[in-house]
Amino acid sequence: AGPPKKRYSVTLLPGDGIGPEVISVAKDVLSLAASLEGIALQFEEMRVGGAAIDADGVPLPEETLSVARQSDAVLLGAIGGYKWDSNVRELKPETGLLKLRAGLGVFANLRPATVLPQLVDSSTLKREVAEGVDIMVVRELTGGIYFGNPRGFGKNDNGEDIGFNTEVYAASEIDRIAHIAFETARKRRGRLCSVDKANVLEASVLWRKRVTNVASEYPDVQLSHMYIDNAAMQLVRDPKQFDTIVTNNIFGDILSDEASMITGSIGMLPSASLGESGPGLFEPIHGSAPDIAGQDKANPLATVLSAAMLLRYGLGEENAAKRIENAVLETLDKGFRTGDIFSTGKVLVGCRRMGEEVLKSVDSQI
Ligand code: ATP
Ligand code: MG
Repeated sequence: AGPPKKRYSVTLLPGDGIGPEVISVAKDVLSLAASLEGIALQFEEMRVGGAAIDADGVPLPEETLSVARQSDAVLLGAIGGYKWDSNVRELKPETGLLKLRAGLGVFANLRPATVLPQLVDSSTLKREVAEGVDIMVVRELTGGIYFGNPRGFGKNDNGEDIGFNTEVYAASEIDRIAHIAFETARKRRGRLCSVDKANVLEASVLWRKRVTNVASEYPDVQLSHMYIDNAAMQLVRDPKQFDTIVTNNIFGDILSDEASMITGSIGMLPSASLGESGPGLFEPIHGSAPDIAGQDKANPLATVLSAAMLLRYGLGEENAAKRIENAVLETLDKGFRTGDIFSTGKVLVGCRRMGEEVLKSVDSQI
């Protein structure tokens, strides 16, 4: 098929628990899908989390961050485990992940909640409601009440103890997440719902105003607004009404977890975290699953689908992304299931076998 058209470097961060197992599968799928599209990927594997604490004494070695920053995209497995439980913040595996996000400047978190036809019975909702759900939640990740100042503890005028936080957004922070949300909606079905609490919160009034402004640059995307309380309700009443949702840090934290439960299968859900420029970070939403680590039981599909997001949102390689997504659907159509998504009549397989089946399907995609 001639010489490769494009070259990219991808940093692999297997991490802890089932991380190395699912990353190994995703790496093979990613390189095959890319090469079939004439793309050459160069992988560099680095340590993070508990694995890095053991080897380097810190959860995010400087070298890991610098290699990640210089690459075109970062694929992460999972971080953490009982072994590294610690009260010292600097020695927590999870601190490595927070530092990695900060170091890469990723302020937009994209989490799809897709009910696949093959897994509709995993949904917590009735079949009629769940069937066909395909939502993307775009959550602002580095601002709002989780980071706003002033924050802290004190006393009120009555001398009573108080705790306080501040919901604050600058116009530029809203504009940049809005741009990512509109771009995302444009790659999907062209509808964006911005979720806020503009009837109560000043930060939400500004949010709504800036998002509405940015909309004028995207005439092909249809924008609507919804209050968070209504959105939380609509998400379980009639989730099919949503395409792309954009919202602030705290509302996005809650809505994205709510949306993921609609699908009912944690082992299937990918995520992307994007910045203005520089590499994006792609990872499954599940954790390190220490209870099944090292047993070849993990579902690798959340990481495989994260690799598809890496191609689409990280490298702009839509065809290779589609190849992976179609292969996952085909593998499920053939009846292959890991334990977490198994039902009677299906073929129970382990992590590696599931990977081999996906590879076969990637290869047979036209
Ligand atoms: P963390 O703090 O790292 O997020 P957690 O305990 O909150 O960990 P997970 O590690 O995601 O959450 O595990 C939750 C449950 O889901 C566990 O029983 C685990 O075995 C299961 N699980 C998570 N990911 C997978 C997967 N990819 N395949 C199969 N089962 C999984
Ligand atoms: Mg967790």
